[in-house]
Amino acid sequence: MDSAKPLIHLLATGGTIAGAQNAAGGYAAAVMSGEELLAAVPQLANLARIEPEQVARLGSQDMDEAVWVKLAARAQAVLDEPATAGVVITHGTDTMEETAYFLNLVLRTTKPVVLVGAMRPATAISPDGPMNLYNAVAVAADPAAVGRGVLVVANDEVHFAREVAKTNTTQVGTFKSLNRGLAGLVHRGRIHFFGPTVRRHTADSEFAPLGGTALPRVDILHAHAGMRRDLIDAAVATGARGLVIAGVGAGNLPAGALTACRDAVGAGVAIVRSSRTGGGVVERNVEIDDDGLGFLVAEELNPQKARVLLMLGLTRSTDAVTLQALFQVY
Ligand code: GLU
Repeated sequence: MDSAKPLIHLLATGGTIAGAQNAAGGYAAAVMSGEELLAAVPQLANLARIEPEQVARLGSQDMDEAVWVKLAARAQAVLDEPATAGVVITHGTDTMEETAYFLNLVLRTTKPVVLVGAMRPATAISPDGPMNLYNAVAVAADPAAVGRGVLVVANDEVHFAREVAKTNTTQVGTFKSLNRGLAGLVHRGRIHFFGPTVRRHTADSEFAPLGGTALPRVDILHAHAGMRRDLIDAAVATGARGLVIAGVGAGNLPAGALTACRDAVGAGVAIVRSSRTGGGVVERNVEIDDDGLGFLVAEELNPQKARVLLMLGLTRSTDAVTLQALFQVY
């Protein structure tokens, strides 16, 4: 190994980037190891020395809080080693945005941490994984990536963890940063960073490093025309400590569901109004009296990211004003 090259730790978790297609046109995620992924892109040796480690082996639909905690611990441990220049995490695309935002809030580091995946399995015609991996390592090894928080690299684009969302079921250009735009572009390892992210993250996050406190249960419920209160009541009755509503439009929900949310607040459950639209801001006290009802709003965070922030927030406080302030900071 060329010791002049930066040292990058590759933490592999599975996903389609490690998937293999079967003859019937389906595929299984997480078949290949991190080592095999590296072997498929020998050009990576031009960029970095890479130490692979298999942290999990799953399709990211099975990513959960326990794996997040394990992944955060491993990432923090290798980031704390002085020789480490950066970390690349291979991950399924389905829940990549949540893992990225979680790590963005719990890793105490200024070093680059880059999540990467693929939409086409490694054995498909024209897989996108190898170039995505090459670009991800280039970003993680770039001193200009220091201090930008956790990033997602895919399809020649660099996204901030806070902004990125999967927006298409199958296309390689699935990731978009809808409200605030891209962190940068990366083409065959050549990187063009745009402005920094404005919100607090990583080394400046009050949730970093992740402590031992268990993450409370927070559920997401998707609002719709004719939504009833039953599922909200069920979530409260079965132990949710917080609920994120993927509301219609600017975080609205029908009267019966609204009443159930008010009752949930009365039972000590935090309610965050987010939006099912995928873009824009949910503001306080527009059509709904958030002050009177004790609700929180997610501002720009989509429901799945609002859930991550609420889970972490609830490890510190259940006070509505304290929790709402987090959505203005992170
Ligand atoms: N369900 C798989 C996953 O998230 C497929 C999505 C992908 O990786 O592209 O791991």
